[in-house]
Amino acid sequence: MYFVEVILPLSLAKTFTYSVTEAEFHYLKIGMRVAVPFGKSKIYTALAIELHQNKPVLYEAKEIHQILDEKPIVTKIQIAHWQWIASYYMCAIGDVYRGAMPSALLLESETLISQKTDSFIDTSLLSDDEFLIYEALQQQSSLKVQDIIAILNKKNIFPVIQKLIDKNILVLQEEIQESYKPKLVRYVRLHPKYDSNQGLNDLLEILRNASKQKEVVMRYFQLSASEKKAISVKKLVEQSKSSPAIIKALIEKEILEEYFLQQDRVTFNGQVSKKQLQLSEEQNNAFVAIKERFLHKEVCLLHGVTSSGKTEIYIKLIEEYLKTDKQILYLLPEIALTTQLVGRLQNYFGNKVAIFHSKYNNNERIEVWTQVLNNSDKAQIVIGARSALFLPFNNLGFIIVDEEHEQTFKQVDPAPRYHARDAAIVLAHSFKAKVLLGSATPSIETYYNATSGKFGLVALSKRYGNVLMPNIELVDLKDKYFRKRMTGHFSDVLIVEITTALSLGEQVILFQNRRGYSPIIECITCGHVPHCQQCDVSLTYHKHKNQLRCHYCGYSMAKPTHCQACSSVELTTKGFGTEQIEQELLSLFPNSKTGRMDQDTTRGKYGFEKIIDSFKNREIDILVGTQMLAKGLDFDNVSLVGVMNADNMLYHPDFRAFERTYQMLTQVAGRAGRSEKQGKVIIQTYNPEHNTIQQVTFNNYEAMFTEQLYDRKIYKYPPYFRIIKVTLKQRDFERLKAGSIWLYQVMSQNLEMPVLGPEEPVISRIRNEYIRTIVIKIPMNVSLVNTKIAIQKMLNSFEAVSQYRAIKVTINVDFY
Ligand code: ADP
Ligand code: ZN
Ligand code: ZN
Repeated sequence: MYFVEVILPLSLAKTFTYSVTEAEFHYLKIGMRVAVPFGKSKIYTALAIELHQNKPVLYEAKEIHQILDEKPIVTKIQIAHWQWIASYYMCAIGDVYRGAMPSALLLESETLISQKTDSFIDTSLLSDDEFLIYEALQQQSSLKVQDIIAILNKKNIFPVIQKLIDKNILVLQEEIQESYKPKLVRYVRLHPKYDSNQGLNDLLEILRNASKQKEVVMRYFQLSASEKKAISVKKLVEQSKSSPAIIKALIEKEILEEYFLQQDRVTFNGQVSKKQLQLSEEQNNAFVAIKERFLHKEVCLLHGVTSSGKTEIYIKLIEEYLKTDKQILYLLPEIALTTQLVGRLQNYFGNKVAIFHSKYNNNERIEVWTQVLNNSDKAQIVIGARSALFLPFNNLGFIIVDEEHEQTFKQVDPAPRYHARDAAIVLAHSFKAKVLLGSATPSIETYYNATSGKFGLVALSKRYGNVLMPNIELVDLKDKYFRKRMTGHFSDVLIVEITTALSLGEQVILFQNRRGYSPIIECITCGHVPHCQQCDVSLTYHKHKNQLRCHYCGYSMAKPTHCQACSSVELTTKGFGTEQIEQELLSLFPNSKTGRMDQDTTRGKYGFEKIIDSFKNREIDILVGTQMLAKGLDFDNVSLVGVMNADNMLYHPDFRAFERTYQMLTQVAGRAGRSEKQGKVIIQTYNPEHNTIQQVTFNNYEAMFTEQLYDRKIYKYPPYFRIIKVTLKQRDFERLKAGSIWLYQVMSQNLEMPVLGPEEPVISRIRNEYIRTIVIKIPMNVSLVNTKIAIQKMLNSFEAVSQYRAIKVTINVDFY
């Protein structure tokens, strides 16, 4: 008897045993995929993780349908890492497997398949099976994999489908809704008819009387000779000091041809910049110090103030690891930041840079997956958001976690709820690879690890080029309102500073951590505030669309003309968001161009890039935005940053509120004065004396750290305690209440540690589900493993109570 142990891509904690023939047993290897039946009639793509001869005792092992791979596509190190994630973050191994793999590698009988709409298909090249599928899709827009099984009348069809996906003929239905389209860049090249010498002569003749056009063409020749890479329209316009209109004329005359490439997928066929990167003395000291730390430590924190040039140090380190032929992983908190970075890295490393993130389509993801698996040159450096951690590395040498303090490194939903920074450290350990964490505002946990000797620590305290840190000025809103020095939400000081900056041709960033026009609409007569019907939140007013919207479930309605409670027509707004600031700017600075960057304006196809580009190109003078602005963007002409209101972050009911406020304000302030001239930051606040605000003003990270650490100790939070947050959700309010009290009591009686709850969170209902939370604080000297086993047991008995079975329970370990 021969068996294979597999992981199924389902939320199941167990692995399953299937029987195989002797031949299959010898052919199979750990890390190959097999198609297996599961449940009544479903087929899934499972992953082989062990081959053995132990007959399962509880059930009859079914036979596998088919082996899907010729060689492993998942490594043993990955499997071990996924098992660690499942156990540490208390989730099913099936959840990790499902989250880790590109979905086209996980076909199952329920998967919906359609034909790619824009592809031309030469049917004579299709095999019989392929043709049958193709033909069926001419009748129907989509098919389930199980329909295809019926059409072909055989079970082993995953490879056929996979092939059609690889050939770009079929796509998974889920992708069709995918809204992400990477930015396309417009390039030009010489029309082929002028390629010959004769052609050139003709061309010069044609352009004899068009001197401007001729200049552009001559410039084009120079550029293509010196750079040997694709020439973008933007670059050609800049370099030839011409205009887009002239280029357009040349295209119409068929002298130039335009074509488009996806910006982050351009194969870099130019030469890698020969100019060696010159580190400043400070940067070089840090570079040497990091290498020294790595002799003794696996992890090092680079604590460098904003604009100190951390990226350049990363580049130098990457160079070192490339020399030893190692793979390098560069983790970023936001997909949106990759475009800026890719350009910077390709300059030095050319085609060795690959990008991987969840918004890539399946083909692109499988391509990078395969390159990493084969240790190919083309993916020696992988840039990605947190999911890049799941790639099949086999020779990983170095991981960079840039902006390590960012919350987005922690996945919230669905499981696995892992922290990419922490999971990266564990992954690196199995490769004996090094990890560099970078931030101007490290998380308390990381700084604690760095100062207590667990991690190495290297600091960069000056900005590159000796640019001064921005000068931060506080404006007391109480005083300004009292003395009537406010125009809308702008203090007189802020208005003067904006006016000055604009008059010098400099740009301004205004930060308000709320989108929409105002978060509350209130009836003056009776005080009624419209709330979402499904969630426990007030509806945000969006003036431009004349709508009230729920930011939690997406519900929207037209703005009512009168109060729904008393019919009064006197409605007023409370609080303000980015939309209102933008509106006020129109009347305060009518001659300036304003832009807005928040979830509402960056939703569209290239929303984010478009706004960043036009700000970079100085088509926007004043940019208003939410925390999106705080994430590592590098603009060189911003001399002023204004924080409209620093207080709403400060009073979030969260033990990280002060830490987060410090990080957010410091990062936003860091966008000011990044080249040459010292920048200025105006922070408007009702609490100018607040310690956190003072710490931001004096750029005193140490003081913030010391104070927060003290609080964390007293109130039993990380880094002194580990936090596990249990969330319970259910539509039936009473049942949820009873269930959460039951679970809380069992936990607090059986765990010898603080258990808090069951608490009603600030937003206690979302999409008609009521919410309760329980927080468990595990002291550092208590066994984490045993505690988790105990918690799991309690959750199992909770599920065994029939009236609580419908309550959804989620576990968040190291809740962020
Ligand atoms: P950080 O990531 O620390 O905020 P960046 O790496 O973005 O800082 O660097 C800030 C600016 O200084 C960037 O525009 C970068 O190009 C420039 N810079 C930093 N170091 C160097 C260097 N050694 N040579 C040239 N330019 C540098
Ligand atoms: Zn009313
Ligand atoms: Zn809602």
